[in-house]
Amino acid sequence: MTASPTRIAIIGAGASGVMTALQLVHQRTTGNAETRHNLAVHLLDRQPRPGAGVAYSSGLDCHILNMRTRSMSLYEHDPGHFTRWLREQPEAAQITGHLEEHYPPRHIYGRYLRHCLGEAVREAAQHHITVDFQQCDVTDVVSEGDSLRLTADQPLPRFDHAVLCLGDLPATAYRQFATHPRYAPTPWDPGFYPSIGPADAVGVLGTSLTAVDTLLALQAAGHSGPVYAFARTRGLPKVQPRTLRPHSLKHLTPEHLNHLTRHGPLDLADTAALFRRELDDALGDDGWPSPAQNPRSDAAADLAHDIRQAEGDGAHWYEVLDATSPLAPDIWQRMSYRAKAEFLHHYSSLWATYRHPMPLVNAHLVAQHLSSGQLRVLTGITGVTAASDGTFDIRRTAPGGDVTHRVDRLINTTGTATDPWLIDSPLLTTLLHRGILTTHPLGGIDVHPHTLRTRDRNGDLHPRIHFLGPLTNGVHFYTNSIETNLTNATHLANSLTSGSP
Ligand SMILES: Cc1cc2nc3c(=O)[nH]c(=O)nc-3n(C[C@H](O)[C@H](O)[C@H](O)COP(=O)(O)OP(=O)(O)OC[C@H]3O[C@@H](n4cnc5c(N)ncnc54)[C@H](O)[C@@H]3O)c2cc1C
Repeated sequence: MTASPTRIAIIGAGASGVMTALQLVHQRTTGNAETRHNLAVHLLDRQPRPGAGVAYSSGLDCHILNMRTRSMSLYEHDPGHFTRWLREQPEAAQITGHLEEHYPPRHIYGRYLRHCLGEAVREAAQHHITVDFQQCDVTDVVSEGDSLRLTADQPLPRFDHAVLCLGDLPATAYRQFATHPRYAPTPWDPGFYPSIGPADAVGVLGTSLTAVDTLLALQAAGHSGPVYAFARTRGLPKVQPRTLRPHSLKHLTPEHLNHLTRHGPLDLADTAALFRRELDDALGDDGWPSPAQNPRSDAAADLAHDIRQAEGDGAHWYEVLDATSPLAPDIWQRMSYRAKAEFLHHYSSLWATYRHPMPLVNAHLVAQHLSSGQLRVLTGITGVTAASDGTFDIRRTAPGGDVTHRVDRLINTTGTATDPWLIDSPLLTTLLHRGILTTHPLGGIDVHPHTLRTRDRNGDLHPRIHFLGPLTNGVHFYTNSIETNLTNATHLANSLTSGSP
């Protein structure tokens, strides 16, 4: 008699959900004989197709990956996989230069995710594993005896485990404008752009990579009016170097970290000193553009400087940061709570401008918009009000005193809210209210760092519910890349298939 399969529901079929399914199949099909059979994986998403999520659903060619092709493989053991797949795609013929250094449109990456899922489904079938996709909106997960009951807008079977991959949920800032016809709560609604007049003044709330994507979407829609990008303190993202050479870490090594943490966790000064030494060693005294030593307030001049540096032949700071990527989760786990809190409070915004720099090709486009005067990047935002004629007034403090800018349209690019209680997700809110999920004091949802089992309000790990993706930022710190979410999906699948606590 065949035992009934272990049923796993993956709620959310964006990149994290797909990577979890891939890892479950991979670990089952390559695992030992006892764990090979009887697995049923159900990917559930309110969107009609898997692999799109927020990041890979834009259909615009100008919305490119912010990482090079070579670092976007879905298989840790085969880093060239995405590059080889891309070479076979019709779009490859149009790509000049080295394919592995290219930043393809993100919708192509969504197609890659679906391709890999399709391969996994076929592979799984040969091992008596099923992987299904079902379009539905899940609103509750209830533990009943030995199983989980999910509430959705259509019937679902009972599950043994649920993995919540809810992803980048909409920002909650400025929700007072939610129903305003000239306001877009996110920049990812393609229906909003045709409603913008070509000469309208557009206000963009935020100056991150998402703000850059918004500028490009406006350009693609034929908009030629002024664009104001507003932030409190943060300027534009930095710029990635034209070529990314490998850097071997000398100071930020596991051995040094072990040595430093032999008597206790890392404090912020220790951590900063390690980074500093690594950067000084790689770049020499002049190479590190310390923002504290060299403050500038002119976005165009800043960007021109960053572009020159990105196009130069010398070593680049991003090479060092990129090399630290695999170690970043370990460094975060070794820092004291106080160091983490201090870092998030004082430096996370600055860190983001360096850790998420824009590809050089986008930097040139932004520079053109700045030099033509079409784009202005303005810091010191203090508030936004809707005027009676349907426009918006944005107030900010400037060196000469307070100023107000009037815009015809407003687009929110401030990204995911970090306080889960404020996120507009019935599923999340219900589970938080019942204490099944709890927030992490440093942001997001509290989970075990390795198994990704959720913690309830009493601090106990749930035996059947896991959480993966951007909202585990307080525990994992860096949760906004394929690389980190893939590592976490691997740990999670390992814990699920091995049954480790
Ligand atoms: C614009 C953007 C560009 C990025 N570019 C890159 C890049 O170039 N390189 C890189 O490494 N990383 C990039 N990232 C970061 C990273 O790849 C993403 O954060 C990652 O894709 C997150 O995937 P996810 O599946 O966790 O979330 P999401 O992509 O947000 O997917 C979550 C899914 O869950 C579904 N969902 C949520 N709630 C429910 C529910 N209750 N019921 C049913 N379905 C539900 C949603 O419909 C959605 O499809 C980017 C992120 C963004 C936002």
